[in-house]
Amino acid sequence: MALSIAGIIAAVGILFGLNFIGLFIAAYVFDKKARHVLWYLAAAAALMANGVFYLLSIVAPYTALSLVFVEVCQGLGFIALAYGFAGAFRLRLSHRFLWGLFVVGTLTAFALMGLSEIDVARLVTVSLWHAMVMVYLAVTLLRAPGAGFQHRFLACLALGPAVAALLRPVVAAWIQLDTTMSFAEQVEAYGAVVNIAYLTALFGIGAGVFFHVMSDLASGYRQASLTDALTGMLNRRGFLDTAKDGAVTPSALIMIDIDRFKSVNDTYGHHVGDRVIMAVADILGRHVGPPHVAGRLGGEEFAIVLRRVNLATARALAHSLRAAIEVELDGLIDAGLSTTASFGVAMIGEGGMEGALVDADRALYRAKRQGRNAVCVADGYGPPRASRSGGRRSA
Ligand code: GH3
Ligand code: MG
Ligand code: MG
Repeated sequence: MALSIAGIIAAVGILFGLNFIGLFIAAYVFDKKARHVLWYLAAAAALMANGVFYLLSIVAPYTALSLVFVEVCQGLGFIALAYGFAGAFRLRLSHRFLWGLFVVGTLTAFALMGLSEIDVARLVTVSLWHAMVMVYLAVTLLRAPGAGFQHRFLACLALGPAVAALLRPVVAAWIQLDTTMSFAEQVEAYGAVVNIAYLTALFGIGAGVFFHVMSDLASGYRQASLTDALTGMLNRRGFLDTAKDGAVTPSALIMIDIDRFKSVNDTYGHHVGDRVIMAVADILGRHVGPPHVAGRLGGEEFAIVLRRVNLATARALAHSLRAAIEVELDGLIDAGLSTTASFGVAMIGEGGMEGALVDADRALYRAKRQGRNAVCVADGYGPPRASRSGGRRSA
């Protein structure tokens, strides 16, 4: 028994399969919510088993049965891949079509068991359903709503194994034209060519899928690192990054701080304090949309960048937010007890965001000193002004 070149290529394929199994396990451990990665894992395992059965067909008895398992594992691997894509891209696949192909393909592989490995009729039949699975996957990807570059790129990679599958009968027929070769030489030459095609195509789609899984994982973590877990708003870092990204002139900054918030926590408990923070975030979310940016700077402090907005408009928005908080949060904690917030407004000038944060913070503390539930404009933008509604009790 000598391991042929075709066998060595299959062994390399098995190592690649093992490698992808390890990578997909690691990806799943990082993010157990990414259930579709389990399908990729199953695909890598099935395609690795495909290589193992191919090797067994060379070195062990029951060659015909091993070759049937080669086909079955390959089909299973492709179907698992399709389900992985379906999970990642929310594709709607026809289960009936895929599993129907699998049943028919498997029965046909058993029915043709015993025909030679390079029998063209056998290869046409078993290759066809494999190719159909991958072409169906590629077409579904391309037709997905909002399909973009990533869809097109992965659809191209998905066509690789389909091409490799369809090459099998062509290569077998072509090699059998050379009548000077013995049957064993023909089988070996066929195996070498076809296995190289599969190795290349499967490595291509494996690498593409893994890259996609990792980029999803990275963007998920990046998104989480920029988002405030309590309110779902941008956190300080997300707010500053986003504000910097689309910086335009003129822009204004509003800083907001809930009044006497510590006493809410102390009197009613931290969970009630959290509800107040969420309620304020909800009001800001309803009043501030693109191109403006709102975020929670930390604790009970929020900030808004208003783009292409002058000071008068910014101050007017701060006033309406102050009133909305006072009115909408009235009685949220306790009947008759309103929650209020104070506001500092500044233009983003030459000092950039850092300078505006200092200016708005000073204005905010002036609003606090003037009795809270008020809006103050930073020094240097006209006479200092504060306004507030009277009469209500502040929390
Ligand atoms: P002022 O009107 O001067 O702003 O008074 P204040 O009590 O609001 O100000 P202070 O900065 O002393 O209190 C802020 C409190 O916010 C202190 C802290 O316990 C609370 N806090 C910070 N983060 C959270 C949070 O995520 N949830 C809750 N419930 N409380 C928080
Ligand atoms: Mg504060
Ligand atoms: Mg406060």
